[in-house]
Amino acid sequence: MTKRTKLIAGNWKMNNGSAETREFFSKLETWLASDEIGKKAAEAVRSGDIEIAVAPVFTSIHAAVAARQSELVGISAQNAYFEPNGAFTGEIALQMLEEAGCKYVILGHSERRHVFGESDDLLQKKLAAALSSNLLPIFCVGELLSDRESGRTNDVIKTQLSCAWQNADSEAVGERAVIAYEPVWAIGTGKTASLGDAQNACAFIRELTAECFGIKTAEKIRILYGGSVKAENSAGILAQKDVDGLLIGGASVEAESFARIIATAV
Ligand code: PEP
Repeated sequence: MTKRTKLIAGNWKMNNGSAETREFFSKLETWLASDEIGKKAAEAVRSGDIEIAVAPVFTSIHAAVAARQSELVGISAQNAYFEPNGAFTGEIALQMLEEAGCKYVILGHSERRHVFGESDDLLQKKLAAALSSNLLPIFCVGELLSDRESGRTNDVIKTQLSCAWQNADSEAVGERAVIAYEPVWAIGTGKTASLGDAQNACAFIRELTAECFGIKTAEKIRILYGGSVKAENSAGILAQKDVDGLLIGGASVEAESFARIIATAV
């Protein structure tokens, strides 16, 4: 069976300016270097059992990269545009993020879809561009409460993913894509999907991957759960067979609570 490295990723959303970013890294890296469980987590990163990432706002990426004492924590962007340069005021290219020190980029987060109106068509272009860049895309999918209540959860996931994967290269998907299942009704609300619902949705995403790209790619792709994850519920979610990690919003903004979640993954 293919081993999938667990990814524990924090999405800071629009929080943590440069000074708070420096403070976050100082605390998290001290924990990784000197706390008993922190040292275990650092060892798990070095041996490839887990990956840790945080996604600061664009203006804090530089502070995050500069504040890091080690490569134990990867840096992610929260969004990017698909074009490499040009007249796209307010946007940022994948290559620029890579140059700034990012390893990952979150795409299609529900706030991008539902607050800023990003469409499946736009996200397909972003994912295709990310898969041919050197960044690892963390591509988010998930249903609204009304979808879940009307039994349409799988339909929504299928539509979002099948659109995103048009023209995607199977090898790139298996090697580099990360999918985050984030039910919109669970994001920032304190409501978490039940363990069974999280597992079923992640298993469904793996099944769709197998249909689209074959079983080998499906076994390799990493699928995260996101939606009101905290240290009290993270171990149970991580224990689900098809859950390969977590995308954490609110509980990742402060180093202490993010570290408590990381501790449950090692
Ligand atoms: C997120 O922003 O991706 C998220 C899951 O947020 P929260 O953990 O706060 O629900």
